[in-house]
Amino acid sequence: MAPLSRALSGFILSHDHFGSHLDGSGRTVDLELEKQNFLNAGETLAAIWSEMAIDGYNVDTEFMPCDEVLPPPLPVPNHQWYADLVGESQYLLQIIKCNDVRCCSPLRSNLKHIIHENFLPAPFSIIQDPFSVPPPTDHHTGRFSCLLVRQSLTLRPSYTRTKKLPYHHYCPSLQQEISGRTCSQCGIYFASKVSLDQHKKNLHGIEPLASCVRPLRVHGRRQDEALCTISEDVIEWIDVQSIDDSIQLEEIVN
Ligand SMILES: [Zn+2]
Ligand SMILES: [Zn+2]
Repeated sequence: MAPLSRALSGFILSHDHFGSHLDGSGRTVDLELEKQNFLNAGETLAAIWSEMAIDGYNVDTEFMPCDEVLPPPLPVPNHQWYADLVGESQYLLQIIKCNDVRCCSPLRSNLKHIIHENFLPAPFSIIQDPFSVPPPTDHHTGRFSCLLVRQSLTLRPSYTRTKKLPYHHYCPSLQQEISGRTCSQCGIYFASKVSLDQHKKNLHGIEPLASCVRPLRVHGRRQDEALCTISEDVIEWIDVQSIDDSIQLEEIVN
């Protein structure tokens, strides 16, 4: 995200290009106008990012309107490979190389000398007193340490319920979601329930339990999944089969 954010520094994105869709209290009063303004903002961002190159590769960006039925995600070629080498989290997707040259091309750097666990370790806070560096006991005490300090200490937060610390463990809006998105078999965290269900089904042979979800808002749709606001800060893809029957999905999306 850093190069994309840098390209926007100093740029002011208008929220009311075609006129304001908000009333005096900031509430939406014209949904169609809001969609047009949002589309203009999205297309403006896409135009800025499409002029960039990252690591020598041209960036190609396209705005997808909210009502668009998106293409399905690419199928995972090998679920064990995905579980071993891909680290999902909400704002960071890590894809690492293994040591098998028949599988992955050789590393171009000494990265594994620095990052022993292969994936970037999650930021977490530590407490230091004159005699020791005790592990933190909650989310609210201590100070966040830099990467090299985290790498050199074997400490991990003691309240962690998952076997591996998800990268966004400290993100306030995600703390309630972590246990529900972590594989009970191998402790891997996934950025969405859909992704976790696919992992459990394909790697452990566990069919997902049918649970009913009542989203606050539905934003878009792709094949059998809908992008929904579940709670105040949580937006994720959900299998449409598990969405409450009383939600008129087509009406909301279209
Ligand atoms: Zn590999
Ligand atoms: Zn698993």
